Amino acid sequence: RSNMVLEENRRLYNEVQELKGNIRVFCRIRPFLSNEKGKATTVDHLTDNGELVIVNPSKHGKNNNRMFKFNKVFGPEASQEKVYLDSQPLIRSVLDGFNVCIFAYGQTGAGKTYTMSGPNSPSKENMGVNYRALYDLFDLSQSRRSTFAYEIEVQIVEIYNEQVRDLLSNNTQKRLDVRNISQANGIAVPDASLYHVKSPTDVIDLMQIAHTNRAMSATALNERSSRSHSVVTVHVRGTDLKSRTSLNGHLHLVDLAGSERVDRSEVIGDRLREAQHINKSLSALGDVIFALAQKSSHVPFRNSKLTQLLQTSLGGHAKTLMFVQINPDVESYSETSSTLKFAERVSGIELGPARANKEVKDARELLDQVTSLREAIMKKD
Ligand code: ADP
Ligand code: MG
Repeated sequence: RSNMVLEENRRLYNEVQELKGNIRVFCRIRPFLSNEKGKATTVDHLTDNGELVIVNPSKHGKNNNRMFKFNKVFGPEASQEKVYLDSQPLIRSVLDGFNVCIFAYGQTGAGKTYTMSGPNSPSKENMGVNYRALYDLFDLSQSRRSTFAYEIEVQIVEIYNEQVRDLLSNNTQKRLDVRNISQANGIAVPDASLYHVKSPTDVIDLMQIAHTNRAMSATALNERSSRSHSVVTVHVRGTDLKSRTSLNGHLHLVDLAGSERVDRSEVIGDRLREAQHINKSLSALGDVIFALAQKSSHVPFRNSKLTQLLQTSLGGHAKTLMFVQINPDVESYSETSSTLKFAERVSGIELGPARANKEVKDARELLDQVTSLREAIMKKD
C-alpha cells in the first residue's frame, strides 16, 4: 500500500514538475441549451489531442476554416467531473506549497461561470471547479493528517471598474487596497474577510454569500456579474508534524468579465467606462501571461488590479491554467474567433489554416457531388 502511495506521489510529482512555469490552455465548448435547438454550430471538429477546427459561416470554399491547438479541448458533452479530473493534479499541488491560478476566459454566455462554479445552487453532479477544488483539498489534507496539519482559508472578492470589493463582507461597497507582495507568503488583499474553512458545508456557505452579495450589488439594468471579475483565493498553510517546518500554497480561481468587444460608437457613460476597464484588465492579463510564456525578463503585473492581485500565482514557479470558453453558435463566430486567437497568443502556440482537414473536406465534397449526380441519373432512368 505504501508503495502505491509512493508511486502515486511520484506520478503527481512528475506531472506537477512538467506543469511548473507553464501555461496550460484548456478549451471548453458549451452545449446548445434547450432553447437553442436547431442552431448551427461553428465547430467543425475537435480531436483528443487538443485540436479544434472552427468554420466561418460567411466564407465559402478555401480558407473558411481555422485550426487551433490547445493542451485539451472539451466538447459539449464533457461532464463537470471530467473537466475537473484533468485539472486535479494542478490543484492538488497547492498542498505541496505551489501557487496556482485557474481562470475562465470568454464572451458572456460561453460557460465561464458554469465551468468555475456550475449552475446556481449546483447539485453534486454539476458542481464546478471551485467547489470540487476545495472538497478535494479537504480530502487530501485529511488523508495526510498523520504527517501534516493543514489550515485552509478563503477570500472572495470582485473587481469592478478597477475597484476591489469584498464579497464576504456586509459592506461590499468598501474599496479595498491590493498590496504588492514580493514574498510568496503574503496576502494580496489584507482587508478582505478571511474565513477558515473546516468542512465542505463551510465552502457552500461562503460561495452562497458571495453569490448573493454579487447579485445584490448589480443594478436592475445591468447584469454586472458579466462585467466584473470574481476571484476566489484559497490560502493553504501546511505544517510538517515531524520537522515542524511549514509551507504555503495559494490557489486563485477566477471567473473573468465577459471578453466581448463593445462597439464604442454605441455606448456612453457607465457602459463605456465598464468596457474600457474590462478591456484594460483583460489585455493586461494577456500581456502578463504572454510575457511569462515567452520567459520575458519584464512581466507587467502593475498594469491592472487583476494582475496585481494574481501576481503570486502567475509568475515564477506558479502554475497557470486558462479555460477558454466557447459558445458554439455560428452567430458567435467572430467573438469565438477572437477568443481563440487571444488564447493562442497567450499559449504561445500558433497554427495556420487547417490544410490537412481542408483536403479531407474537398474529398468529402467531391463524393457528395458524385452521389447527387448518380441520383440524378437514376431519376432520369
Ligand atoms: P458566462 O459565465 O460565460 O456568461 P454561463 O456559465 O452563465 O456563461 O453559461 C451560460 C448558460 O449556459 C447558462 O445557462 C449555463 O448554465 C449554461 N451552460 C454553460 N456551460 C454549460 C455546460 N457545459 N453544460 C450545460 N449548460 C451549460
Ligand atoms: Mg458568468
